[in-house]
Amino acid sequence: MKGSFTALRCMLQTSRHHGVFSSLARRLSSASGPGPKVCIVGGGPAGFYTAQHLLKARDDMVVDVYERLPVPFGLVRFGVAPDHPEVKNVINTFTQTAQHERCYFYGNVNSYGAEANRSMRVSGEGLAGVFSARDFVGWYNGLPSNKELQPHLNCETVVILGQGNVALDVARILLSPLDLLKKTDITQHALDTLAASRVRRVLIVGRRGPLQIACTIKEVREMINLPDTAADMLPADFESISEALKDLPRPRKRLTELMMKTVKTESGQHKANKSWGFRFLRSPLEVLPGPDGKRVAGIRLAVNKLEGSGEDAKAVPTGQTEDLECGMVISSIGYKSLPIDPCVPFDPRSAIVPNNMGRVKDTAGLYCSGWVKRGPTGVIATTMNDSFDTARMLLKDMDSGMLNLSVNKPGGQEITALLKERGVRAVSFPEWEKINLEEVRRGTAVGKPREKFLDVKDMLAVAWS
Ligand code: NAP
Repeated sequence: MKGSFTALRCMLQTSRHHGVFSSLARRLSSASGPGPKVCIVGGGPAGFYTAQHLLKARDDMVVDVYERLPVPFGLVRFGVAPDHPEVKNVINTFTQTAQHERCYFYGNVNSYGAEANRSMRVSGEGLAGVFSARDFVGWYNGLPSNKELQPHLNCETVVILGQGNVALDVARILLSPLDLLKKTDITQHALDTLAASRVRRVLIVGRRGPLQIACTIKEVREMINLPDTAADMLPADFESISEALKDLPRPRKRLTELMMKTVKTESGQHKANKSWGFRFLRSPLEVLPGPDGKRVAGIRLAVNKLEGSGEDAKAVPTGQTEDLECGMVISSIGYKSLPIDPCVPFDPRSAIVPNNMGRVKDTAGLYCSGWVKRGPTGVIATTMNDSFDTARMLLKDMDSGMLNLSVNKPGGQEITALLKERGVRAVSFPEWEKINLEEVRRGTAVGKPREKFLDVKDMLAVAWS
């Protein structure tokens, strides 16, 4: 299968900065051994692809990868849907990189990642039953910080806001037969909750039209093929778009044709027990509470029209509104990077670190890759190319003398001393492999590829046993 989730960001540090982040960074990098040292902050795809390129390009390069959790691979572990195991095969490549004799993995050390989600900025966002897709995905994928989420699926209709692939992942997990999910690495607590689910209908709401939908054809096909689940589309949404079809780029044309075919063949069929559907030209205005004032009972949407055409068309409110009843709202309008430290430039508007091909603006020796570099879009292959570009820029700067490699910096040894001083014990890659083995063993016992640990303390107990 084609690559899927892209992920995370990593920051590569080869020079001097201030603050908490910098006190780590300052002690790392450059010439304390035979060759240059690079510190990568974040052990997701962006981090590992950058490490891979650097290690291959120079046979004297030493790379340290720091990761907040005791377990590596970022969004490949915690973002990719459990029923897309083939996407997780990149873990084999990352493992080879981590096992390289000049690569060192330090898990359990506070670091950096795409840790927030864009806010809908509407009232009622804080009501019970409103979740961000990021948290919901983290919950079914075993992200320790999301294990307490408790999304009681005791309602019939769920509204998902946003029409990207994350929205479709969430919709699919909500509607998939349990027997299929049971064979994946979805967490047992999510399986238990899904087993008691009353959810029968999922509406995936976008602010623009069918020609601007952000998901890809494979994910729409998976929705169409869900057993016992009908597509519930509104034929009127597709009436005026056949004209535009011929001028569309091929992937968008095929996606649109698939949706149009689905409208024709499926709409009006009510034999299935469950349904899903796209709703277009609707923006969230307000999440509506039920009689208790605490739980979500619906959502008020602004009815939009499009200004302009094609990918750049803008949603403009018409002034009309529409209310949809639902017992749960999941906002899936994109992930968001956060500023890491005052010494690292950050553009709050675009939520990225300003950079030129990965070289961070006005900050010699600092590079970025992944979502912090370009924003939260693209599949894993996008992150791979993007990370290779960052590595190339760093290597070019080293070769041109732009980075002062002659300054003798102590590198990772001193970080190890600093962590010790602060009472932090890092998890090495062989220690992660112990966690991995135990997760696989626990999974095999119940017919799953793995049963993830949900608690950092359980991970550490196995790592250090
Ligand atoms: P995404 O593809 O950017 O989709 C975000 C959706 O939210 C779009 O429909 C967007 O509409 C909408 N949106 C954004 N801001 C909004 C607002 N203020 N109000 C209402 N709607 C808003 O993001 P994603 O789904 O989080 O996925 C992130 C990346 O990971 C994507 O590149 C995706 O393809 C990738 N991914 C891939 C897979 C896979 O291959 N299976 C799985 C998961 C994720 P507009 O278009 O109007 O902005």
